[in-house]
Amino acid sequence: MLFLSFLFGASAASFITSCSYRLGNSHSLTIPQRSYCDNCHSILRWWHLIPIFSFIILRGQCFYCKQKISLYLPVIEFLSGVAFTTFIIYEPIHDLIIILFLTNLIFLISTDLFSHVIYSYSLLGLFLLRCCLFRKIIFII
Ligand SMILES: [Zn+2]
Repeated sequence: MLFLSFLFGASAASFITSCSYRLGNSHSLTIPQRSYCDNCHSILRWWHLIPIFSFIILRGQCFYCKQKISLYLPVIEFLSGVAFTTFIIYEPIHDLIIILFLTNLIFLISTDLFSHVIYSYSLLGLFLLRCCLFRKIIFII
């Protein structure tokens, strides 16, 4: 169960960073449907997309053109995997709110890092989730 939650967290972070990169650089979210290299635009194979593991296997570079892959990706995937694994210990509703909060933070950080853009709707979601968390903390006390 812990390994699955780690894998889910790392995969969620990988997906969110991919979407934030595409949104931040005005690329389509649906075309091409598969992930691709930013430098040579080659479509990546399935084993190039395994979070953290593929970064290690590929030695931090593209399989086709040898362009370096940012260290940000495996680091955020690992941290997200650890966070998802940690949160599975607590009660489910509390976990869901924290996981939504965390994924929203990953999206904000990634869009800011990749394109220096912070979307207002993402801040609104963060505010609503913060209100849920704050109410929950008050309720516990
Ligand atoms: Zn490439």
